[in-house]
Amino acid sequence: AYTTEPGQDSDLTSRTREPEWEDNIGYFIKKKLSVWCGQVDGQWELGTILSTSGDQACVLLSNATSINVPTEELLPANPDVLDGVEDLIQLSYLNEPSILHSLQYRYSRDMIYSKAGPVLVAINPFKDTQIYGSDVITSYRNRAASSPHVYTTADTAYNEMMRDEVNQSIIISGESGAGKTETAKIAMQYLAALGGGSTVGIEHEILQTSCILEAFGNSKTSRNDNSSRFGKFIEIHFCTSGKICGAKVQTCKKSESRVVQLAMGERSYHVFYQLCAGAPSPLQERLNLKLAHEYNYLNQSECLMIDGVDDAKRFNRLLDALNIVRISTEDQEEMFAVLAAVLWLGNVTFKVTDSENHVDVIDDEAVTTAARLMGCTTVDLMLVLSTHKIVAGKDTISKKLTLQQATDTRDALAKFLYAGLFDWLVEQINKSLEMGKQCTGKSINILDIYGFESFKKNSFEQFCINYANERLQQHFNRHLFKLEQEDYETDGIDWTRIDFEDNEDCVNVIEKKPLGILSLLDEESNFPKATDLTFADKLKHHLSANPCFRGERDGSFSLCHYAGEVLYDTSGFLEKNRDPVLPDLIQFLSSTGCNLPLLFASRILSQSPKAGTTSLNRLCSIDSQKQSVGSKFKGQLFNLMHQLETTKPHFIRCIKPNSKQLPGLYEEDLVLQQLRCCGVIEVVRISRSGYPTRMPHKDFAERYGFLLTDENASKDPSSTSVAVLQQFNILPEMYQVGYTKLYLRTGQIATLENERKQLL
Ligand code: ADP
Ligand code: MG
Repeated sequence: AYTTEPGQDSDLTSRTREPEWEDNIGYFIKKKLSVWCGQVDGQWELGTILSTSGDQACVLLSNATSINVPTEELLPANPDVLDGVEDLIQLSYLNEPSILHSLQYRYSRDMIYSKAGPVLVAINPFKDTQIYGSDVITSYRNRAASSPHVYTTADTAYNEMMRDEVNQSIIISGESGAGKTETAKIAMQYLAALGGGSTVGIEHEILQTSCILEAFGNSKTSRNDNSSRFGKFIEIHFCTSGKICGAKVQTCKKSESRVVQLAMGERSYHVFYQLCAGAPSPLQERLNLKLAHEYNYLNQSECLMIDGVDDAKRFNRLLDALNIVRISTEDQEEMFAVLAAVLWLGNVTFKVTDSENHVDVIDDEAVTTAARLMGCTTVDLMLVLSTHKIVAGKDTISKKLTLQQATDTRDALAKFLYAGLFDWLVEQINKSLEMGKQCTGKSINILDIYGFESFKKNSFEQFCINYANERLQQHFNRHLFKLEQEDYETDGIDWTRIDFEDNEDCVNVIEKKPLGILSLLDEESNFPKATDLTFADKLKHHLSANPCFRGERDGSFSLCHYAGEVLYDTSGFLEKNRDPVLPDLIQFLSSTGCNLPLLFASRILSQSPKAGTTSLNRLCSIDSQKQSVGSKFKGQLFNLMHQLETTKPHFIRCIKPNSKQLPGLYEEDLVLQQLRCCGVIEVVRISRSGYPTRMPHKDFAERYGFLLTDENASKDPSSTSVAVLQQFNILPEMYQVGYTKLYLRTGQIATLENERKQLL
């Protein structure tokens, strides 16, 4: 059977097959109607069926060649009149090639936004499209423009918030580089313009936060030059008059090794390069800053610059933004000192002192500068990087570290400092945006979250991300289903329950207690002798009955996500779930003389409930008290979902049209795969199971009324509509007559459209 992605679920193609299609082939031959023909190279081509014999069809392709294909691989195409419709639901045939074609038709004409029912689909143009800015905002505000756009979505959210006094959320998803973060900014710009629009004040501050968060949280990856390495949830609060009065940012950062380890061609967080390139010389001197290529943490990936980006200029913009959100110069200086300390830590080196690979730190500029920037003595820093303290009864014994252990400790310290800095910065931003909190209006929340991931090798990180996406998808399905139902009910349609697929099984296999993946993982993480392999066996043992789960060889398992099957490799799951804090490092930091490192350490210390014990003992108990990474993630996700459930959602699905970040290039396979992953195909499927074509009686009567052969036909639009349907023998189960609209099953409008065309 035809598949677009090797290894993808080929069943998806057949799931979106039109039910009546097989019976209709004769009609398509007779009327020479276009069909989509699946090709070996993975592209769909338009053609017409010349003849069929058995399950084979002879198809004349648009390039004048004819081929024989199984009829199974043919799908009906839509009449030309439906080219470039604003809403995919308007298509008469909602199969995958038709959806791909429709989106491409618009995309190639710079109409990057389309609707799929209630969902806005945004295809990244990778170029300046001239469809933003204050003039465009004004025309959307004045309803002079109404085509699909982020502005329309933001406008709808705002109006519904004001009208219904209900909090709203704009949920943006898509894979890396698809345009989520840009879309979130575009939505924020619109809301800022609606809720004030001045270049001072809170609206302005909110927009500036993007610049700061991107400097510290984004980096160049192979897939996106400005890839956000964190999920972001922004609440924008409005007062009753509709003006913006405050905002709050919540972030969710994947634990990442990016600070210390880079893949070829990728960069660490932008701010490091910005600081090295743009720090004014007094600051440079105070921090003993060098250029980026002199730091091991930055120079290891042979990628120091981004085309078209001036890091020094960006640093100045960052300073402006920090000032605008009122982060004091002292705090800024401390932040930069932490950044420089991280960089210098990366240059700390070791020498092996014995046959067992134990090491000493080499006493050089790197360790001296790092120590100074962290507010400790060089000796103390050298000690913590090369020894490990063990509590034995009342005594503490110091053991030397091996080269590997010492390197890991150094990197752990760097990562800890950076993670602490990021969280602290978010807190500062929130303090600054909180000023209008006293107002009691409603809010619009914007969620910019990493989408579903499926790589060759998938680990704990992908598992967490996909779990979150599974939850969001559930939210999405339920909401969509509710909308469908409401529309039918208000229009008086006989509502027999429409089949609706839920992803409950998959959510359950992950989060159910006590026998779900997360619970089993926690159980194994607390079991000293457990390994990733025993964990994998445990999963197999307990979960094999679930249709979404499959135990695989070599400690792997696969899950059937709504977006396709993903194979997870359990190696590293236990360690990543435990995420050990290194007690020696925390203790060391809690005795340094700089505010920020001290603060980061004391946060960890205050989590420990056992007061009165020595700080090292207290620290050693942290590990066992601490919530696992998996449970923490689940908790955060529950909070987020809870927050979302009290809001009216608006969904934006961002699509990356090619993996080269180039304008004008539309790779069908890549787009299709994403449409499946972000649930657009799902929306279409849900709509298909009902009556996807909805036309007000008046519109329908105007368009097709003239086809009536009975001169005495009634003038009343709804009777005219029914008469037309009857004349063309459209079966009663193919339509429903609502109070205001006519509801048609898929494919019906194409039949009528064809009759109409032949008469015109
Ligand atoms: P994501 O957050 O989904 O990873 P981004 O929002 O960072 O992706 O977008 C990646 C890049 O694509 C941006 O840096 C920008 O160059 C381009 N881009 C995204 N959306 C748009 C848009 N609406 N118009 C023009 N370029 C865009
Ligand atoms: Mg992003």
